[in-house]
Amino acid sequence: THFGYKTINKQEKVGMVAEVFHSVAAKYDIMNDLMSMGIHRLWKRQTIASSGVRKGHKILDLAGGTGDLTSKFSQITGETGQVILGDINDSMLKVGREKLRDQGRVGNIEYVQLNAEALPFPDNSFDIITIAFGLRNVTDKDKALASMFRVLKPGGRLLVLEFSKPDNELLTKVYDFYSFNVLPKIGSVITNDSESYQYLAESIRMHPDQETLKGMMEEVGFEQTSYQNLTGGIVALHRGFKY
Ligand code: SAM
Repeated sequence: THFGYKTINKQEKVGMVAEVFHSVAAKYDIMNDLMSMGIHRLWKRQTIASSGVRKGHKILDLAGGTGDLTSKFSQITGETGQVILGDINDSMLKVGREKLRDQGRVGNIEYVQLNAEALPFPDNSFDIITIAFGLRNVTDKDKALASMFRVLKPGGRLLVLEFSKPDNELLTKVYDFYSFNVLPKIGSVITNDSESYQYLAESIRMHPDQETLKGMMEEVGFEQTSYQNLTGGIVALHRGFKY
């Protein structure tokens, strides 16, 4: 067992991820704000700032969920550009689509239900691909990264925003306590579902650390790879280019 979970196989993981996001979709945004104390907004802002987005760009916001990044991108890329919000989960897509319509973001956004491991787009399609807090949910991460590399245009860039490894011991201890004791409690109070948030803590702990993920990106062909630690490495923003 690992943190109280039995080792899970691939099929079980796919089912568990689906269940978690169907279950949390309606309350996903408020949970994000509560659990990160609003800081996820800064992490996302940093992602946009590092993306090099310009008018007319074609962007894929992978595992886009309720569309925070898509919303910002669609504003900048304008009517000559396009943002595709891709997600495997129709409940999350539905919540995202409704939220963005309420914000008046229409015209240059498309919603596509897809699996990050097998992207349904031609080679060399996108100027920018982002995947924010999504890669750790993907079963075969190498396959997903290779698929992203394939659909990125030459000169395009990938940004991976994801939980990572805190860069000092004290922060690690505080953070472990927070994610294994406090988070599931917030989850159970707000959503009546502590299991989904137990899964969250577990998936964060299993995710590759900064250097490992950078290596995985290089392995599938990304160049000039780098990462920036945010909030002491609790989150890292990885970047890589396709040439
Ligand atoms: N990017 C959004 C954000 O930062 O707020 C949502 C992140 S949410 C934690 C993770 C999303 O990944 C969920 O909407 C989930 O459905 C999606 N997801 C999980 N596995 C996926 C896969 N294999 N392919 C595409 N999306 C996936």
